[in-house]
Amino acid sequence: MAAAESDREVPSALCTEFLNFSAKDTALKWLQVTDLYKEVYQHLARYVPKIYCLGPNLNPQSEDLLAQLLLQAPLEWYLCGEDPSTGLAKLEQNNQPSQLCGHVFRVGEPTYSCRECAADPTCVLCMQCFLGSVHKEHRYRMTTSGGGGFCDCGDTEAWKKGPYCQKHEPNISDSCQEDPLAHLSTDMIARCYNVFAIVLKYAVDMLTWDKEDELPPGLEPPDRGDTYYCMLFNDEVHTYEQVIYTLQKAVNCTQKEAVSFATTVDRDGRKSVRFGDFAFCEQAKSVIVRNTSRQSKPLRVQVMHSSVVAHQCFALKALHWLGHVIGYSDALRRILCQVGLERGPEGENSSLVDTLMLCDSKMWKGARNVYHQLFMSSLLMDLKYKKLFAIQFAKNYERLQSDYVKDDHDREFSVTDLSVQMFTVPSLARMLITEENLMTTIIRTFVDHLRHRDLQGRFQFERYTAQQAFKFRRVQSLIGDLKYVLISRPTEWSDQLREKFLEGLDTFLELFKCMQGMDPVVRQVGQHIEMEPEWEAAFTLQMKLTHIISMMQEWCATDERVLIEAYKKCLTALTHCHSGFTDGEQPITLSMCGHSVDTIRYCVSQEKVSIHLPVSRLLAGLHVLLSKMEVAYRFPEQLPLSELSPPMLIEHPLRCLVLCAQVHAGMWRRNGFSLVNQIYYYHNVKCRVEMFDKDLIMLQAGASMMDPNHFLMIVLSRFELYHIFSSADCRKSYNRENTNKDVVQQNNTLMEEMLHLIMMVVGERFEAGVGQVEGCDEIKREIIHQLCIRPMAHSELVKALPENENKETGMERVIDCVASFKKPGVTGRGLYELRPECAKQFNLYFHHYSRADQSKAEEAQRKLKRQNGEDMALPPPMLPPFSPLFASLVNILQCDVLLGMLGAVLQWAVEPSGGHWSESMLQRVLHLIGMGLLEEQQQLKNSSEDHDVSFNFTLKISRPGEAPSNTASVLALLENLQNAPHLEVHKDMIRWILKMVASIKTMRELTASTYTVTASGSHGQEEMVCDKDKAERKRKAEMARLRREKIMAQMSEMQRHFINENKELFQQSLEELYASTSTSLEHSPTSSDAALVCVGPRRSRPREKRQVVTCILCQEEQEIRADSKAMVLAAFVQRSTVMSKNRKRPPHDPEHYDPLFMHPDLSFGTHTGSCGHIMHSHCWQRYFEAVQAKEQRRQQRLRVHTSYDVGNGEFLCPLCECLSNTVIPLLPGTKGSNSCEQPGLGQWLKISGQQIKAMHSAHRKLQPVGVDAVEETVEEQCPATENFRIDYTPMSPYSSTIKEMLTTFGTATYKVGLKVHPNEQDPRVPIMCWGSCAYTIQSIERLLVDEDKPLFGSLPCRQDDCLSSLARFGSACWTAASQPSVQGHYIRLVAALIPDPQVETSPCILDIDMLHLLVSVVLSYGSVHSQDSSGLSVDAVQLHFFHLITVAHMVQMLLTSGPEEVTMEQESGGAEREEEEDICALYNTLRTHLGSSLPEVASGWHLWRCVKTGILPYLRGAALFFHHLNGVPTPPELHALCPGQWEVLCGYLSLPSNLLQLYHSQKELLEPLLYGWCSHPGVRQTLQEGGVLVSFPRESNSLIDLPDDYSALINQASSFTCPKSGGDKSRAPTLCLVCGSMLCSQSYCCQTELDGEDVGACTAHTFACGAGVGIFLRVRESQVLFLSGKTKGCFYAPPYLDDYGETDQGLRRGNPLHLCRQRYRKIQKLWRQHSVTEEIGHAQEANQTLVGIDWQHL
Ligand SMILES: [Zn+2]
Ligand SMILES: [Zn+2]
Ligand SMILES: [Zn+2]
Ligand SMILES: [Zn+2]
Ligand SMILES: [Zn+2]
Ligand SMILES: [Zn+2]
Ligand SMILES: [Zn+2]
Repeated sequence: MAAAESDREVPSALCTEFLNFSAKDTALKWLQVTDLYKEVYQHLARYVPKIYCLGPNLNPQSEDLLAQLLLQAPLEWYLCGEDPSTGLAKLEQNNQPSQLCGHVFRVGEPTYSCRECAADPTCVLCMQCFLGSVHKEHRYRMTTSGGGGFCDCGDTEAWKKGPYCQKHEPNISDSCQEDPLAHLSTDMIARCYNVFAIVLKYAVDMLTWDKEDELPPGLEPPDRGDTYYCMLFNDEVHTYEQVIYTLQKAVNCTQKEAVSFATTVDRDGRKSVRFGDFAFCEQAKSVIVRNTSRQSKPLRVQVMHSSVVAHQCFALKALHWLGHVIGYSDALRRILCQVGLERGPEGENSSLVDTLMLCDSKMWKGARNVYHQLFMSSLLMDLKYKKLFAIQFAKNYERLQSDYVKDDHDREFSVTDLSVQMFTVPSLARMLITEENLMTTIIRTFVDHLRHRDLQGRFQFERYTAQQAFKFRRVQSLIGDLKYVLISRPTEWSDQLREKFLEGLDTFLELFKCMQGMDPVVRQVGQHIEMEPEWEAAFTLQMKLTHIISMMQEWCATDERVLIEAYKKCLTALTHCHSGFTDGEQPITLSMCGHSVDTIRYCVSQEKVSIHLPVSRLLAGLHVLLSKMEVAYRFPEQLPLSELSPPMLIEHPLRCLVLCAQVHAGMWRRNGFSLVNQIYYYHNVKCRVEMFDKDLIMLQAGASMMDPNHFLMIVLSRFELYHIFSSADCRKSYNRENTNKDVVQQNNTLMEEMLHLIMMVVGERFEAGVGQVEGCDEIKREIIHQLCIRPMAHSELVKALPENENKETGMERVIDCVASFKKPGVTGRGLYELRPECAKQFNLYFHHYSRADQSKAEEAQRKLKRQNGEDMALPPPMLPPFSPLFASLVNILQCDVLLGMLGAVLQWAVEPSGGHWSESMLQRVLHLIGMGLLEEQQQLKNSSEDHDVSFNFTLKISRPGEAPSNTASVLALLENLQNAPHLEVHKDMIRWILKMVASIKTMRELTASTYTVTASGSHGQEEMVCDKDKAERKRKAEMARLRREKIMAQMSEMQRHFINENKELFQQSLEELYASTSTSLEHSPTSSDAALVCVGPRRSRPREKRQVVTCILCQEEQEIRADSKAMVLAAFVQRSTVMSKNRKRPPHDPEHYDPLFMHPDLSFGTHTGSCGHIMHSHCWQRYFEAVQAKEQRRQQRLRVHTSYDVGNGEFLCPLCECLSNTVIPLLPGTKGSNSCEQPGLGQWLKISGQQIKAMHSAHRKLQPVGVDAVEETVEEQCPATENFRIDYTPMSPYSSTIKEMLTTFGTATYKVGLKVHPNEQDPRVPIMCWGSCAYTIQSIERLLVDEDKPLFGSLPCRQDDCLSSLARFGSACWTAASQPSVQGHYIRLVAALIPDPQVETSPCILDIDMLHLLVSVVLSYGSVHSQDSSGLSVDAVQLHFFHLITVAHMVQMLLTSGPEEVTMEQESGGAEREEEEDICALYNTLRTHLGSSLPEVASGWHLWRCVKTGILPYLRGAALFFHHLNGVPTPPELHALCPGQWEVLCGYLSLPSNLLQLYHSQKELLEPLLYGWCSHPGVRQTLQEGGVLVSFPRESNSLIDLPDDYSALINQASSFTCPKSGGDKSRAPTLCLVCGSMLCSQSYCCQTELDGEDVGACTAHTFACGAGVGIFLRVRESQVLFLSGKTKGCFYAPPYLDDYGETDQGLRRGNPLHLCRQRYRKIQKLWRQHSVTEEIGHAQEANQTLVGIDWQHL
């Protein structure tokens, strides 16, 4: 195995040779020789194999160093003709850099494109340039680079405006046209030329070398060793896992090494996996090939001679060197370009650059990357040579593309990817089209690669194999190239450009002919199709071409001659397509209402029909352009209008639309989903512009050239409805004879669809050219109709609108005139709402509505009308007039055939029993009538006085049918229908129509009588009608309001019910309500007289009331009593580092850690939370067992995971589904003991000392090995133990179930808090419980401060309950543990305060968190008190401890208070004089003990300030603790944030408000303690070393600061490299929001082992940084990641929003993102509240797919 060999040592002989080497001498020698080429090659042949590839590892650092000395230095000497360090500097000085920035993008680096000024979206700026550009103030788009590509700053063709940033702004004095070579001496130029020619030739020779065992002539090494490499190459076929597995087998390496090999192969494209003699390497090769050849083609492996590899390594180095050298001077760069493009001996396309390009697909990834980069920094940066390179690129285009299609590497590693750098430059693109016929080349190459054709020569994708599909995907990149070429439209045309463009169009039409009619379908009858035909390929092609087609049309639109020629060519192509079609179809004659027309017999439902008609659609697009550019009116003689056959034009688009209608009608059900999908895409926003929209236009174009009656008859015939309407008595007989319900239903739907189609043909006029509209009218109308459905977010609107090739919808220009923006709150997103005045433009039959959209919009609009108290009619909107070319379309509305159909439907509606019809049908008919009326009204208004309006719809609909049938007129039928009871919903619409008819009649009469026609007259009348209407509506609105109120009352009743059923939803809000109400009740009666005190003998009586709770499982009530059944709270215990002040502290060893004292840095704690839901312990146990059993069954059946881990004791609260992992028993409060005389501090200290001594001796007795001597003295010294019965074993006051629960919770806290296996016997169990109580109190105290909430009364009651149970549990948990061990803890705790010679390892007071000490000592005291019978009250002891610890805390602070802040010096007004003097006195006492370790302090003011602010959190924590432990009511002043809190707090805690009195009043007693604390060696050591001193108050931890602009983060992440794989870019850089570390997530390279399992970087970090809980930001995805443990995780909305109030998860939209502080605070709050795990639980419950993700690999 390769890695096993030790690092090589350079042989000493070589060393001396290297030492004697002189680069200067070598260069001088080179200057003399005649054949420099031979000389340099000899040099390389001699040295390269001695430097490179002497050992198993390629590219160690030493190689680079030697290469620099022996190889590059002489080259540089030769090049400069002097010491390169001065020579290159001179070059750089004389250089006049070009204005191009050319910064090459790293993977993941942010790029910016201006949406207003960029020539196309591929024009981008780097961050530096962007920030210094004008575009910063424009609308821009931000994306992350995929690597490659460079900054376009300074390229005048790339930007319409502001092409330069501040840095690249050219000097006016610069003459940029100057030849950069002018500054160089001819000698220099010649030398430079020589060197570049040789080095580049060498590099090309080596990189394109394909022999494994020999070298090119001139490079054979003098002495050839027998060393080989087994080289593994990258392919995109095999997965990481396959490669890793194979390598482990083949070269017998560890998994880690295999991972490293695989990573390198993936990154560099190759990696040697074995080094040794030939046979050794050959063996590995055969194993690899054998192992990977089974499923696919084997991995590529070569056994290569080490000298070949050595030269290849140096060749790469040489290319790097070239790139580096040309960076000094534009002149050198130009010389290199010249060398590269110089034609070689083989003639055309034989330059070195050509050679490289043509071998591209044979090279490995690393080599390709290096030379591509050199191309970018040389050829593409020099404007002259960029052009020459582009020409060579175009000449080789076909070959390069073919190589690429066969290659299996991604396009980013192919030289073809450089096309974007040239084709998007408009001048180059134009040049390549005219001179290299690029457009034709691209299209032809594309067509050549699609070989599957049917008999007619059309593409056939139906039976595509996977391999063909793969190839097809690669070919698609050609369409991208075509798009680049076309993306900027020419401003002026040369004849040559016209010629070549039209030639390109010809090729394009050839492509289209292969698509016209492809993938045809035939209706399946009887049986369902057996196999869904492949349809996606054809649609992919269509979708990819969509923008190309649009751009072709836009090109045509810029030149009349081109347009005319293109139109002719397209028409010829269409005629050609049709020639094969209509043959054999029988001609028939249709006649109706006195009109007749000839057509063919064709049924969509029986014959082949295709949805792909690109030729027809292109012609439709060009036809509209004829109208839009007025070519049709100005040069009619040049157009082949006479050749047009309207029936031919409409035939295929009509078939396609009929197909859609029939699919809607359910006639094609047996054709499966593939057809449904095709129809879907046909209408979809991605395709419709060049599919559905154009078919409609073609219908409009054809119909405008036909007699409307003829048009409608053909439509009827294709819809297969002709027979229904053509019969003379169709009004009566429809369907009477037809009893097949399905057929009736089908026909009804078809009729609806057909009526809709007629509406669209007449009504869709918003395409410029069809109607007389402005460019932005169309988009406005789209937006209005989207917003008529509902208010929408920006991204939703963008998705609903078609994008152009620049990814723009044009929405921004118009959105503000049609919509108003509403900002989002902390959740949700910003929404656009339709402006009310735009609602009248609503068209229910908008052609882009899907059926679902239509019904949603109808509902929304009717609701709106109801709210406004308007009538319910939704009449058609006013329409813009048609362009002249399409003007005749309006006549469809008043033609006989249509009126006949309208009359028939109305007649059916009058007699609904007489036949089948549908309300939708009637609704459409009414809409059409409305359109006719509006058209007439419009024309009347716009007509000039002498012009008679020929459009007379009112007349036509008033005319009854002719004899003999004498059918009723449409108008008569409508009047008849007005009162039909079964048409209630349509009444408003009918009324609207009748009103319109009346108003038009009046208008006509007015026009007829006087010429002074005034629109106001008719308006006046309308208004009168309106007024009457308004009054009526007002009355109705009032009634509606009353009805609403009644409903509201009913609703609130229902809501109450709902709340009961959905408790968890309302829990939070209700709790907040309760929290305020219940506490106000609780303090009002007691607070009136005596001040409240929560600790000590004077403590107030607890609210003595029976506490009765209800079990959520069995609903029974239960009183909380020590001797009753246990009630428990669902609880979640977790380890926490949220409050840690020291994240560097290494995690402790769980087995041996002693948790008795918490360090003040709070680096690890145990937090307990609860949802507050109470159960019987036995109910909970039963529930948990059921969950366990269910889980076991589930895991056996299907290996799905749940959001909770039952094996770990986790379950979901049965009521609120909150994640829990244990339960806390509820215990009754302790009763206050009202004993009389209590000992003072001195006496108590004595008693306590005696008790401790007694315990010491008793415990020693328990120990098997005692030291007799000590035992005796102890017995002697403690006579006063008669009140302390050390041998008395107290009875536990608790019932058996409570005892059991005490063990349960204690064990759970122990297990989770220490991360150990449960062991209820472990003496650390009670310690962990006390610690958790203290930590939880501290965490809640911090939360209250952070949120500016008062100490009491603002907590939700679930937290109050949780704290009470925790405190009471803590005081009771000793009963479930061994008494001696708890007493042992007590003794050690006390010893930290009162030095005890018998306890050896007490920590110094600087290393103790005082609240933890207070809580632990108070809670552990119970075990001692149980043996005391002296009448000493617990209260007194609590108070003494509290006072002592308070003093200790003050001392702790004085020792750590920093040096005085001079600026803050301030004399207080005497109010706190006393405190200041006292504190100075205390401080000076400390100084006497510690001497110079403490700095001198002049004033007490600063000290007192420090102590007072520092001690507050401790006091507040103590107040919370004693309140919950003792159940004392809280003073009302602490329920608000009013001044005077300090005094109230001190009072409540039974403290003097001058805390120093605690010390001064007991000076003599405390002095020895003080001395004891200070003399602890730890104190002096810490102070002198200045070790980690935590300063008080401890600030709350925050999540890290995030930059306002998201791109700053992207930039930061893009320069982040994977810490494990040497400078490689990380694929998923992820930021820890807790500590700010950047991690390389979701990648093999950074996996580490955690508890015997491989985990990703995030999970590993989570355990170090967050004790198992992590909050991350995935920078590339713009997504927050929550992790908990190894198995839980979820994604969370990031705190970054765009200007539209939306997040961009996945960074797909590219709108600039800015930090939303509100949302970030919300995430921070989740973290501080310890709710992250809970949040994950809820997310996973809501979305099961989250459960399946392997979170540990992130
Ligand atoms: Zn730049
Ligand atoms: Zn710039
Ligand atoms: Zn701009
Ligand atoms: Zn119960
Ligand atoms: Zn719950
Ligand atoms: Zn990594
Ligand atoms: Zn971290």
